Amino acid sequence: MSNDTMTKLIQKQKHFYSTGATRPYEERLRQLKRLKGALVAYEKQIISALKQDLNKSELESFSTEIGIVYEELSFTVKHLHSWMKPKKAKTALTHIGSKGRIIPEPYGTALIIAPWNYPYQLAVSPLIGAIAAGNTVVLKPSELSPATSALLAEILESLFDEEYVAVVQGGPEVSQELLDQAVDYIFFTGSVHVGKIVMQAAAKRLIPLTLELGGKSPCIVHADAPLKLTAQRLVFGKFTNAGQTCIAPDYLLVHRSVKNELIAHTREAVAEFYGAEPLSNAAYGRIVSERHFRRLASFLQDGNILFGGQTAPDRLVIEPTLMDQVTWDTPVMQEEIFGPILPVLEYDHIQEAIDMINERPKPLALYLFTKEPEIEEMVVGSVSYGGGCINDTLMHIATPHLPFGGVGESGMGAYHGRGSFDTFTHYKSVLKQTNLFDIKFRYPSSKNGLKIM
Ligand code: NAD
Repeated sequence: MSNDTMTKLIQKQKHFYSTGATRPYEERLRQLKRLKGALVAYEKQIISALKQDLNKSELESFSTEIGIVYEELSFTVKHLHSWMKPKKAKTALTHIGSKGRIIPEPYGTALIIAPWNYPYQLAVSPLIGAIAAGNTVVLKPSELSPATSALLAEILESLFDEEYVAVVQGGPEVSQELLDQAVDYIFFTGSVHVGKIVMQAAAKRLIPLTLELGGKSPCIVHADAPLKLTAQRLVFGKFTNAGQTCIAPDYLLVHRSVKNELIAHTREAVAEFYGAEPLSNAAYGRIVSERHFRRLASFLQDGNILFGGQTAPDRLVIEPTLMDQVTWDTPVMQEEIFGPILPVLEYDHIQEAIDMINERPKPLALYLFTKEPEIEEMVVGSVSYGGGCINDTLMHIATPHLPFGGVGESGMGAYHGRGSFDTFTHYKSVLKQTNLFDIKFRYPSSKNGLKIM
């Protein structure tokens, strides 16, 4: 698609938006229900596209992509009416006689740029929010998950005219051309590096935006944690989608006294979930591309392999791997891993773990396993991060009741449930004054003026 064609597409969407067609409650509801109907009808194809792109198993596709989208849709349909109601605001004494209202209004045309790791959920969840809030949408899915991206285009093109919802496929060049357009909102999910490019593009036109980025999310296991259960939840969070999850535990900080026992339980949990030979397990995820495979394989040199470490380059698979004896200067600890390799670091006092995290960019997620409320309070109260779990991993992302997003380098803004509606909504404050009386003392008076000598 040429730059000119994109400009025309945005103009078309803006014109459609200006007709008011996207704004009535009934219309938003109808479109969300049509979307749900189509997604349900295409469920088998969605599962097979996810299998093709990332070798996701049916169970994983359902629990981490399809199920989350259904929940998001049902929740939005249920609450949309109340979210759309303007809210009355209190009147200050100085404003007596007037009435204040806060009116939710759509931004207009929203651009959504999605990544490849959860190529369905991370494209459709923001789309739900944007439609619910009354916007038109241009969606740019990732070129690295081509089967899912093509299917999304097919589904959405069958449902919507491009003046309302359009899918534009392509890589970074297409993305940058879209970022050159005068859209009204940008919602970007992806890497910190590209997030900076997106923010610069938005700054040129002062376009408001949400950045859902990544980074190194720590998982702390304290000495009192129930180790078998902890290991199972850790393995679930780290090796789902072969570690290619923005909120996967990136590295482990474990109390020195329980390190060996935790590693033993982790090895057992890997064997229980993925079998003795995960490389030949058809339900274990693959790495998205050769470039990412090579990047990950090179990390295997950065420490001592505790277990795992085998790879199948022809199928782009890497075994669930734990490694220790890593330092913060090695590449595996310098960048977001985004694969099935878990470095293990130890601490003796919880403050050491807190300090290590606080010396680095604010993480997207943090996980803490402990039964002690004081330890929980110390960590939650003194570390800034997007969101996370106590005694679990990943699960905070899968509920529409918790807004999801990062802070600092891990992103800005949040979505899911009410958070998605708010993200794609401008709240307009309007004060309506009475004409029945007037408070005169705010006006200047020529009588009070002093003459300039
Ligand atoms: P990416 O930043 O490479 O790509 C994301 C999107 O941006 C894609 O659609 C891509 O086509 C586009 N893009 C790539 N280069 C671009 C450029 N130069 N200019 C404009 N657009 C460009 O990210 P990815 O590899 O698809 O995803 C992995 C990253 O995303 C990880 O860092 C991960 O942590 C993060 N992530 C964050 C979340 C979250 O919700 N916070 C979710 C998933 C992934």
